[in-house]
Amino acid sequence: MYPPRFDYVAPTNVDEVLAVLAQRGDEAKVLAGGQSLIPMMKLRFAFPELLVDVNRVPGLDAIDDADGHLRVGALVRHNDVVGSDVVTRANHTMAAAAPWISDPLVRNLGTVCGSLAHADPLGDWGSVMLACGADVVARSTSGERVIPMDDFITGPFTTALEPTELVTEVRVPKYAGTGGGSYLKLERKVGDYATVGVAARLDFDGGGTITNAGIALTSVAPNNIRAPDAERALVGQAPSDALFAEAAELTARAAQPKDDVRGSVEFKRNVVRVFTRRALTTALEHARA
Ligand SMILES: Cc1cc2nc3c(=O)[nH]c(=O)nc-3n(C[C@H](O)[C@H](O)[C@H](O)COP(=O)(O)OP(=O)(O)OC[C@H]3O[C@@H](n4cnc5c(N)ncnc54)[C@H](O)[C@@H]3O)c2cc1C
Repeated sequence: MYPPRFDYVAPTNVDEVLAVLAQRGDEAKVLAGGQSLIPMMKLRFAFPELLVDVNRVPGLDAIDDADGHLRVGALVRHNDVVGSDVVTRANHTMAAAAPWISDPLVRNLGTVCGSLAHADPLGDWGSVMLACGADVVARSTSGERVIPMDDFITGPFTTALEPTELVTEVRVPKYAGTGGGSYLKLERKVGDYATVGVAARLDFDGGGTITNAGIALTSVAPNNIRAPDAERALVGQAPSDALFAEAAELTARAAQPKDDVRGSVEFKRNVVRVFTRRALTTALEHARA
């Protein structure tokens, strides 16, 4: 099906993008990779009168390692993360998740920030960024806002973004001491959205105590969610199989899966339990390596 008619602009710098959004934000949509927006328009679920194509804006396509953060620009594609040495070294959760996003075509075009802005409950990056305690940076003509991921996703396909705002980057904290992470995803076939996804990240101090824990879930709640009870149970503890089993149980309880063609509630909850334990074990192995 063809999308409805729309106007199209392709600004060549951020200020131009912000000026257009300030004028016509209510009827406009930012076009990044187009891998969610264009299908939505073709299916007539989205009717923007104006597309603001940001693909010609320079300076938004880098992954920088600066000030204790990885800064992932608005035009960083899923495949840029797959091939990033910086990410491989500094963030095991992101490195594990990126190859799981769909197929090579989608990974070549779709962006990390576009995925966050889209806030699909089945999207993988939302969980990764929640587990990693990331911040989304949004700009408008009124200035810059730094929005913690915990406040960014407000519901299925809804975020704290204003229609006048452009996400310019997501900032992901680096490990405070040593650390590790993982992302595990069950899918029905290669390239599918998650039946269940579990993102985990652990930070450790010099003595091996867990100083920070992040666990977040894909596809088993109305939107990407954290498992706060499990995170609290981990912090301040020395890692052990028993501790990870307890955290896995608490994470399974936090999940809110629904019966559907991808599986029953019991099945999905058990996948969450098993994946959480495995992801925490892998995070520990990374930290020790
Ligand atoms: C066949 C297929 C399979 C897929 N499988 C998966 C999967 O397994 N896992 C997964 O996580 N995702 C999957 N996706 C979605 C894919 O990851 C998209 O790339 C992503 O959801 C959106 O990123 P995008 O850059 O394409 O955004 P777009 O489609 O361009 O935009 C999506 C939304 O975000 C807004 N937006 C985009 N960038 C910005 C910005 N910088 N500032 C403000 N608003 C912005 C747009 O206005 C729009 O509302 C799949 C998509 C397809 C087509």
